[in-house]
Amino acid sequence: MRLLVATRNAGKVRELERLLAPLEDIEEVELVGLDGFADVPDVVEDADTFEGNAAKKARQMAAATGLPTLADDSGLEVDALDGAPGIRSARYAGTHGDDEANNDRLLRDLADVPDARRTARFRCALAFADPEGSLGDDVHVVHGVVEGSILRERRGTNGFGYDPLFLLRGDMRTTAELPPEAKNAVSHRADAARKMLEFLQSYLRERSAR
Ligand code: IMP
Repeated sequence: MRLLVATRNAGKVRELERLLAPLEDIEEVELVGLDGFADVPDVVEDADTFEGNAAKKARQMAAATGLPTLADDSGLEVDALDGAPGIRSARYAGTHGDDEANNDRLLRDLADVPDARRTARFRCALAFADPEGSLGDDVHVVHGVVEGSILRERRGTNGFGYDPLFLLRGDMRTTAELPPEAKNAVSHRADAARKMLEFLQSYLRERSAR
């Protein structure tokens, strides 16, 4: 089976390849990114939840390519900010993908919030669509999470996005201080991928029994 990962980020495809490798015991699965699909238009991520955006992306990309498709949406949720930046994580300070400005805004917004109330989590919704298979028009969505809190200054140079400010719960390090393999093991994306692996294992088993 060819399985599309709805991203142009080769690193995300490799990470999922590793996490979904046990599927090979059931069926040969080839993960492909969007690189070979130059003509497929980007999906407008305008839903108001991670789940809504991931499901919309999976559904549209599956329809556009004819392939079973995995799509994710993720971001940071801060309790003292009522869940912000949330689905606006990538463009919190205005410009999409400006990590430095996003972190600066987060520090400003939390300047008066005491340490005990700076709890936060990264969330990931991962969606699977397979319109030509037994799922039909349904999309299966799983959720991953990693808990932590927001520091008052940046620490560490690994990772991306809010990693330098995100102190892992039960650890002394930010996710920017973890080696990449360690972050990939504890991340919200890994948590979601493990749950999706379980679903896909039974999905593929059922399919091959039919
Ligand atoms: P995306 O859905 O993976 O594109 O992530 C959206 C935004 O959420 C990113 O631009 C980051 O600001 C933030 N984000 C998601 N995952 C992470 C992470 O693992 N570390 C730090 N920031 C993240």
